[in-house]
Amino acid sequence: MKCDILTLFPKVIQAILSESILKRAVEAGLLEVKVYNIRDFTEDRHHVVDDYSYGGGAGMVLKPEPIFRAIDSLENNREERHIILLSPQGMPFKQKMAERLSLESKRLVFICGHYEGIDERVRSIVNEEISLGDYVLTGGELAAMVVIEASARLIPGVLGDEKSAIDDSFSGGIFDYPHYTRPSEFRGMKVPEVLLSGNHEEIRIWRRREALRRTLDGRPDLIEKANLSDEDKRLLEEIVNDKEE
Ligand code: SAM
Repeated sequence: MKCDILTLFPKVIQAILSESILKRAVEAGLLEVKVYNIRDFTEDRHHVVDDYSYGGGAGMVLKPEPIFRAIDSLENNREERHIILLSPQGMPFKQKMAERLSLESKRLVFICGHYEGIDERVRSIVNEEISLGDYVLTGGELAAMVVIEASARLIPGVLGDEKSAIDDSFSGGIFDYPHYTRPSEFRGMKVPEVLLSGNHEEIRIWRRREALRRTLDGRPDLIEKANLSDEDKRLLEEIVNDKEE
């Protein structure tokens, strides 16, 4: 996965890239991230990147010229890149989007906004607008890194164990099952017997039931949309019956 990030705060990006999974992905050559400071693409003495909003109102607006210049400077051409604007007005980011982006062969170019936002004309060169959710952040940096992190961890070889992403919440449409590690008893709280039993089939069914149970409790809307097997439907019936008892 190859990414270019246009930002006013390169250090925020570098800090996240220098730890954990993303650091390892970069070192392994599975993820390439180039960071561009939008300020470097100004042409005035004071490197001004923002200006007042036409028509008045509070807050400054990111000027279009440095962003267009930064995009023009990229080595890839229009057909070889997919430009993403981070914006609270974009499509809400979902696991399915992460799956799609992890498979994208084009370079992903992320534009991080700031201030009141970006001059509207920048939208004319954007392929996709992504939002982290219905709230407003100060800048697009954390949003870009969330999108990159969630996508990069799906690239084969990035996670230590390939299977760990398969059972993750949302991958199969529902939440992940509960996890326990040693000790088997901690402050009076015991690990469910079945997990210590060594019976793989019983463990599989228990995990599936618990994944369905916690999804039903926390996000019943996901259950309605999920592609459920006959076994899932039977387990759900058991869960509902348990609750009624
Ligand atoms: N005035 C804008 C609005 O209400 O739509 C919000 C601008 S926000 C203060 C500054 C920048 O932060 C945006 O240009 C965008 O890049 C980023 N941002 C803010 N909230 C975001 C969200 N929920 N998802 C993705 N990016 C966000």
